[in-house]
Amino acid sequence: MKLPICWSCKHRYKYIEALRFLWSKECPTCNKRQYLTATSNWKTMLPTAFILLLPGYFIRHYLELPFIIYVYVGIGLFTLAMLITPFFLQFTNRTDPLN
Ligand SMILES: [Zn+2]
Repeated sequence: MKLPICWSCKHRYKYIEALRFLWSKECPTCNKRQYLTATSNWKTMLPTAFILLLPGYFIRHYLELPFIIYVYVGIGLFTLAMLITPFFLQFTNRTDPLN
């Protein structure tokens, strides 16, 4: 698993910097805006969707837990998905989806 690199200054992101990308899109060293590549876009979406939806579905439909447990598990899974996201990021300098 690799952490992303800035398209402009080639700064290799530290884990915490990549995590920060979730709410701040600028490179921490050169302040250039980072865009997700098309590949990394679905790469980040897929595990997140998978982690969030699948266990949630099973818990809801087969375990018959109270809704509040489902909410807690949901929050836990969401946090987990967020924590692994940095490893799937890949930056580019443009929004072109055909990149
Ligand atoms: Zn940079």
